[in-house]
Amino acid sequence: MMQLYPEIYACIGCNACTKSCTQELNVMQYIAYAQRGEFEKCAEESFDCVMCGVCSSRCPAGISHPQVAMLARRLNGKYLAPKCGHLEDRVKEIENGTFQELLEALMQKPVEEMKELYNHREIEK
Ligand code: SF4
Repeated sequence: MMQLYPEIYACIGCNACTKSCTQELNVMQYIAYAQRGEFEKCAEESFDCVMCGVCSSRCPAGISHPQVAMLARRLNGKYLAPKCGHLEDRVKEIENGTFQELLEALMQKPVEEMKELYNHREIEK
């Protein structure tokens, strides 16, 4: 973080980032977590960031908030969060061609039908 985004340590605590966030995130807090190397907390706090960049446009210290948050989420996903066995099994199934026929059938569908399927898909909780 220090090497890639040293400007986060120039934060003056004005909170303009949090006040301007279009997702009502506590932006200054997630930057504070990033400053302290608490990447898991930074990832959690910034999870709903849509990377619009409004916070950065308001920042007098020139901090790239969404990029800092993205790095924290990537570091968290790769090194800190527990491995997801279910996901690893699914990747193996895909690599083994388990879903090949289904995928090819999907690719033949018209765009409107694809949109309909996407909008009414089952979402795993
Ligand atoms: S880039 Fe993320 S944190 Fe910044 S204002 Fe947009 S949604 Fe909020």
